[in-house]
Amino acid sequence: MAMDDLHLETRAIHVGQEPDPATGAVVVPIYQTSTFAQSAPGQHTGYEYARTGNPTRTALQTCLASLEGTDAAVAFASGLAAEDAILRLLDPGDHVIMADDVYGGTWRQITRVHGRFGIQVSAVDLRDLDAVRAAIRPTTRYLWAESPSNPMLKILDLAALAQLGRDHGARLVVDNTFATPALQQPTSLGADLIVHSTTKYLGGHSDVVGGVVCTDAATAADLAFLQNAVGAVPGPFDNFLTLRGVKTLGLRMQRHCANAQRIATWLDEHPRVSAVHYPGLPDDPGHALAATQMTGFGGMISLRVAGGRAAAEHMCTQTRLFFLAESLGGVESLIEHPGIMTHASVAGTALEVPDDLVRLSVGIEHVDDLLADLERALG
Ligand SMILES: *Cc1c(COP(=O)(O)O)cnc(C)c1O
Repeated sequence: MAMDDLHLETRAIHVGQEPDPATGAVVVPIYQTSTFAQSAPGQHTGYEYARTGNPTRTALQTCLASLEGTDAAVAFASGLAAEDAILRLLDPGDHVIMADDVYGGTWRQITRVHGRFGIQVSAVDLRDLDAVRAAIRPTTRYLWAESPSNPMLKILDLAALAQLGRDHGARLVVDNTFATPALQQPTSLGADLIVHSTTKYLGGHSDVVGGVVCTDAATAADLAFLQNAVGAVPGPFDNFLTLRGVKTLGLRMQRHCANAQRIATWLDEHPRVSAVHYPGLPDDPGHALAATQMTGFGGMISLRVAGGRAAAEHMCTQTRLFFLAESLGGVESLIEHPGIMTHASVAGTALEVPDDLVRLSVGIEHVDDLLADLERALG
């Protein structure tokens, strides 16, 4: 039985996760060791030192590569460490076209860290393919997309962007954190590198920070060099927790989607809500495209609260089940004010978000309890 023929739900539980050859343990152990004994100098089992490689990390990487349909995956200590490695593949003077509402930390990193080393960036609304074409330079190496985007839930035409990139020698990087491979597989749309904050849906339980890049074998080898040479590696226990979370990804995403669809529909009718951004709503500008490139619309919603910033802030303090916290993608529901919290670092830039915007990460609790919580907070 070839693993590649199995469905995602099955691969999430089995790929890279054969019973432990030494003991038969059905769960990949936490190899909490910094080094591995050699039988003679240079004669080792494939593992030498745990920054370079660790079996728990290998299991996670093998599984995630399978879920994204790529040759390989390279895991990092956080999503931003994974993005840093992707950007370190560039040379001074190289140019990146980035979506104009990427995760705030992504924008901060490329402008304030990589910018100092000569990486150029343009923020462009990637829904506008003419604008992308106009922004492409001879030095453009990456088109950097997030779909759905954070926090405006914009949907990008990933296949069209991949083609545009190919025509101009630029590779498509997709941050697939919001969709996950359970709902969207960017490789099948032509993406070259897929990056995740595994902190979010892949880990799924708000108990670990991590990141991964899924890509072709040659690029993965370059990233593995950086993983070892720079050293932003996830620890064995972090890898174990992420892999444990990944096993239930398919089930969790189904419930996240169902709950978010109900809540977005309800919010859309609510007199205290002036706008709802959710690709599952039939009148959302991204709906038709999302329906072609995703198998579900995800668990993230953003809304604008009638009454402005004060009303939005007030709503964030009134929920009991939706915890007021940054991050997303866990089993528990979260609420936040992007302008003050996750996206504070983009204030005053092209990526600034409206100040009456509230973002919800809809968890997998019973939807009736979540609706009652939101009704109380809005009412
Ligand atoms: C959280 C997040 C990141 C950053 O990942 P960390 O694990 O927090 O470093 C990148 N992109 C998106 C879309 C995110 O939500």
